[in-house]
Amino acid sequence: SGPLDKEQMQGLRGVREFLKVRTSYDVLPLSFRLVVLDNNLLIRKSLNILIQNGIVSAPLWDSKNSTFAGLLTSTDFINVIQYYCQYPDEIGNIDQFRLCSLRDIERAIGVLPLETVSVHPMRPLYEACRRMLKTRARRIPLVDRDDETGREMVVSVITQYRILKFIAVNNEQYTMLLKKAVRELGLGTYKDLATATMGSSVLDVIHLMVKYNISAVPIIDKNNKVLNLFEAVDVIPCIKGGAYDELSATVGEALSRRAEEFGGIYTCNEDDRLDAIFDTIRKSRVHRLIVVDDDNRLKGIISLSDILKYVLLYGEEDDDIEY
Ligand code: ATP
Repeated sequence: SGPLDKEQMQGLRGVREFLKVRTSYDVLPLSFRLVVLDNNLLIRKSLNILIQNGIVSAPLWDSKNSTFAGLLTSTDFINVIQYYCQYPDEIGNIDQFRLCSLRDIERAIGVLPLETVSVHPMRPLYEACRRMLKTRARRIPLVDRDDETGREMVVSVITQYRILKFIAVNNEQYTMLLKKAVRELGLGTYKDLATATMGSSVLDVIHLMVKYNISAVPIIDKNNKVLNLFEAVDVIPCIKGGAYDELSATVGEALSRRAEEFGGIYTCNEDDRLDAIFDTIRKSRVHRLIVVDDDNRLKGIISLSDILKYVLLYGEEDDDIEY
């Protein structure tokens, strides 16, 4: 192995050590706001609350039993849409569904409930990362217990995005050592990509996301050039106000409804180095990178889990996840 490999491993080891001495609690900003939704709320109302607060997910609270009741995410809304597709006559009832009926919806459409793993905020961050990779959970609630009442408390939720941002901001001395290029690392997915066009219907794209178990689909033109990216969170404004029939609208129409503050999509080239990707993560709100060639043609996609997996597991002896 050459000096580049040595440097790369040194960088990776530095980041891993950092994750072992920091806790999930350290990732949280000094002051933050947490929107927790009562499990008894109508699903329709929860959509409005998410949109009004500019968020895409929230922990659920069972106030009858005073317990944490899971996380509401865009997957739940996609499940409701699948339910609507299977039982279109139920549209009147869908309007009356509460968040606590989400489990019944999963059962009715035959999807396995997402495993809700939670971690204690004071456990090492490394542990939360490993659990994320093992379970495919993209967000993990930090659940603590109140000493006096013994009740569970949701402190916050950590995401892959927050963790990678935290790494990028605090480990520049290590991430600058990651000089290997995306191509050499084979970082991301390059075969069997799920894509759609501006003329595809929103429903088609949702079905693709379900089939591939992914949360974003690049939108390309007939020459394979990247025009945009449709993300699972883009579904939320589409069904606001119970407008399920509007899901037959095109991707183009749906994307034009994106909020003003939409951060844009991020692309990179196969020759870009991992240190440059960390610079992008440090500076911007990146949730995934589309890999394009010099003519902006689609080559691949790098998800945050691809990056986290590489950073945590590459070259590890107890590498229990296929790499
Ligand atoms: P997120 O992590 O934000 O939920 P995601 O679902 O796209 O986004 P993962 O669940 O990490 O990301 O993706 C799982 C795997 O699927 C990754 O290896 C990723 O490269 C790959 N992948 C993501 N999008 C696509 C796509 N449109 N077509 C094919 N593979 C994809």
